Amino acid sequence: MDEVLENKMILNAYRGVLRSIKSRRSKEETKIIRKAFNLAVNAHRNDRRKSGEPYIFHPLAVARICGDEIGLGTISIVCALMHDTVEDTTITLSDIEKIFGHKVKSIIDGLTKISGEFDFSSSSQAENFKKMFLTIPDDVRVILIKLADRLHNMRTLDSMKESKKLKIASETSYLYAPLAHRLGLFSIKTELEDLSFKFTYPKEYSSITKKLQKTKAVRERFIQKFSLPIKKELDKQGFKYQLKARTKGIPSIYRKTQEKGVDFEEIFDVFALRIILDSKDEKADCWKIYSIVTDFYIPNPERLRDWISYPKQNGYESLHTTVMSPTGKWVEVQIRTERMDEVAEKGLAAHWKYKEKTENDTRLDKWISDIREIMENRSRNTTEFLDEFKNNLYSDEIYVFTPKGDLFPLPLKSTALDFAFSVHSDVGAKCIGAKVNSKLVPLSYVLKSGDQIEILTSRSQIPKEGWLEFVITSKAKYKIKQCLKEERKEIAINGKEILNRKLKNLKINISENNLKLILKHYDFEEHTEFYYQIANNNVDLGKIKKINQKGGELYISSSITKSIKETFESLVKKVKKGDDSILIGDGADPNLDYKLAPCCNPLPGDSVFGFITINDGIKIHRNNCPNAKELRSNYSYRILSAKWKIKLGDAFITGLEFTGIDILGVVKELTTIISEDEKTNMKSLNFDTNDGVFEGKIMLYVYDKTQLEKIIKKLRNINGIEKVVRIE
Ligand code: MN
Repeated sequence: MDEVLENKMILNAYRGVLRSIKSRRSKEETKIIRKAFNLAVNAHRNDRRKSGEPYIFHPLAVARICGDEIGLGTISIVCALMHDTVEDTTITLSDIEKIFGHKVKSIIDGLTKISGEFDFSSSSQAENFKKMFLTIPDDVRVILIKLADRLHNMRTLDSMKESKKLKIASETSYLYAPLAHRLGLFSIKTELEDLSFKFTYPKEYSSITKKLQKTKAVRERFIQKFSLPIKKELDKQGFKYQLKARTKGIPSIYRKTQEKGVDFEEIFDVFALRIILDSKDEKADCWKIYSIVTDFYIPNPERLRDWISYPKQNGYESLHTTVMSPTGKWVEVQIRTERMDEVAEKGLAAHWKYKEKTENDTRLDKWISDIREIMENRSRNTTEFLDEFKNNLYSDEIYVFTPKGDLFPLPLKSTALDFAFSVHSDVGAKCIGAKVNSKLVPLSYVLKSGDQIEILTSRSQIPKEGWLEFVITSKAKYKIKQCLKEERKEIAINGKEILNRKLKNLKINISENNLKLILKHYDFEEHTEFYYQIANNNVDLGKIKKINQKGGELYISSSITKSIKETFESLVKKVKKGDDSILIGDGADPNLDYKLAPCCNPLPGDSVFGFITINDGIKIHRNNCPNAKELRSNYSYRILSAKWKIKLGDAFITGLEFTGIDILGVVKELTTIISEDEKTNMKSLNFDTNDGVFEGKIMLYVYDKTQLEKIIKKLRNINGIEKVVRIE
């Protein structure tokens, strides 16, 4: 592209950024933004993105998202414009501090520390996230700008290499989308999920998109018909409002078809109708609308959600009801005001805009301080923490009351003990029971919304291992584990003494190296755990004699001594020749051995990848294996690309699950299709009948995915069969 045109486009993008915070900047602030823009343009003047466009388009786009879609102000815009300069150009943090002051510098410092998003060869992504969360208490804008950065990278992911696409997409749905959800950034969360699905399942994505387009007219007619009486009444009563109908997102349509084993046609018309009011008397008006809606349609009493009286922890306010439409389909109706809608779409930042330093903000503050507490104490196993933390990001909430009548939000399925820990770690650790609605209940009691709970403690109580089986909040889990670890450490000291005595007896030196070999010999990774098991008499120390020794020093022959941290290459060289139906990497080394992962049983035709395990060579997983996301985001450096080199004649085992109505003959037809029409072998067939409905499982050998899909289609057509799904 010629330079004049490029410069014109850059200027245009810059004007877009200014427009995005038009109402929120003074003249003075405009000058600061211009300064940041000029600096960034100059610093990135020689950089280009993978797509070939000038690099500056990226920071400009990120700044625009911050202004337009998150509703942030001048400081954030400046930081977004400068966010990659310290990492990628000659500009330093102290330059930035001199020009823009301390605040901007500390935010950019935070952003720089959590960058390196495309290079995880040294540390796992988990570590990056830990760093990111440590910056929350300093300034939540670090995370908001980071989300904007990720959103733009996802929007422009097309120009990346295939393997990187998958990695970035997995990471996005594994953590960034839940994070956006937790911060209340609903539309960003939805888009991140959508984009991540698009790159992970391109075929499925385009198929659903096409089907949605085809059925658009039918859907619109239904929505119109459904909302007509409501509209008329709202107009009659003089409400100012907007109506929006929202179809389910593509990822959730896909999830539904998979989980329920149903076709697209059965769920494509599931949607929510949103009524957005322009109102001063918010709560009263929302309930008035509720009354109008339920005058026309019968509501499902189980599905009434009043998030106006009890806003969610992320600040979400809305009134939801699900009503029965004349065609017999449930329709969700969401009622909210314009303010509530903006908070729901833009989250936390919109809160600041309305300057309501209310209860909602303190709830978020509490959540952040809980995370910080967990983060700061944690020295190892970030991955485990991340998993727990992630689960908490997405969880639904319940509301319980303290004895004094204070409202306390907790994740759904929290127990009395979770409540105790969320009040205070010491209350949790000393908890012996609880009273719910004045009745004595066990610690494992699962709380319901509206329960009033009082915690009973005892000074002699100590946390028990068994508690971990029923608590669900990450704070409780973490605290319990920490206490147990302390206890284990003390017991481990005895174990260490026992071991040392044994070594003295055997005349083996108590050296760092010998200890390492012994640990490896017994297959332990951690000293403390080993000592603890010794103290509990679970280790046969006699086996030490089997290790070779020379003058008090132990040595183990050959491969065992090699460190687990063997590099990728050496691991790869060690494995033997496989049966070559899969090509790993670029196929340059045909001698790679692999095994098909039992968790997802890949078939020829499935999209697959290789994963390097520590002890068991390379495992081939399906791209949509339930474990894939986690493997990709935490251990991306151990992922190999892989594809099928189909060799006819090899059969693979797979399983199908089906349900249906118990009609004589179904079974016969089913077995005929499998063994005669398709000429495949069944390994096993099980049926369970219950009140006229049967459930069955077949394990069978097929040649590839196409054949399996053909069989599924045929089976679905049998009269009496309700659903057929592949066992994942
Ligand atoms: Mn960036």
